[in-house]
Amino acid sequence: MTGGHLGVRRTLAQVQRRAFWPRWRNDVRTFCRRCASCQTYRRGKLPRIGALQPILAEEPFERLNFDLTGPHPRTRRGSVYILTCLCPFSKLAEAFPVPNKEAATIARVLVEQTIYADLAHRSKVLPTVVVRLMVLL
Ligand SMILES: [Zn+2]
Repeated sequence: MTGGHLGVRRTLAQVQRRAFWPRWRNDVRTFCRRCASCQTYRRGKLPRIGALQPILAEEPFERLNFDLTGPHPRTRRGSVYILTCLCPFSKLAEAFPVPNKEAATIARVLVEQTIYADLAHRSKVLPTVVVRLMVLL
């Protein structure tokens, strides 16, 4: 045999080409089923990990989803990353070019430039997350 672990279907085909004995198909199936390597190796598609869950927000700016992409081609001002911010309730989206993905850089944009921060400053009530970010700066 090949020495490989081919799975039942291919092993049946290999045995059929080389040998015959009564109930050989059953024996091959049993053999494959008992092979530890074959039992721990998954063939074919991986199962889906799980359905995406909706991110629920009950009012505008209750949450802020943000993401960082890049590196992208460098802008004239030296930015290579894009920070995107999305309010999952209103779907308001903002994007900011940033030169790096250091915590202080991201915190500065979140605190100083996003509408979320703007609203927080206007309302004079800084959400805990903004206060924590300001400590980073
Ligand atoms: Zn095997």
